[in-house]
Amino acid sequence: MLLINCPHCGPRDETEFHVGGEAHIARPKKPEDLTDAQWADYLFMRKNTKGWFAERWVHAAGCRRWFNVERHTVTHEIRRIYPMGDAPSDDIA
Ligand SMILES: [Zn+2]
Repeated sequence: MLLINCPHCGPRDETEFHVGGEAHIARPKKPEDLTDAQWADYLFMRKNTKGWFAERWVHAAGCRRWFNVERHTVTHEIRRIYPMGDAPSDDIA
């Protein structure tokens, strides 16, 4: 079981959180110009990283705020929790 340090509430049990998927996905500036295949790629295609990965998390059973987490997908170690809008570490593609 993981102890997640919510930036707003402090350390809480992982069961209070939901993972919203990959962070830092570039939103299309003009979605109406995309083909159906490009739109499907934007909606559904995500990285399957083995290593450090940036995810969006929400403290669903707490403050309900969103934030980013850099988590290792093999060890589940969390090395960084940072606000939405901040850039990921340089080694995250
Ligand atoms: Zn919280």
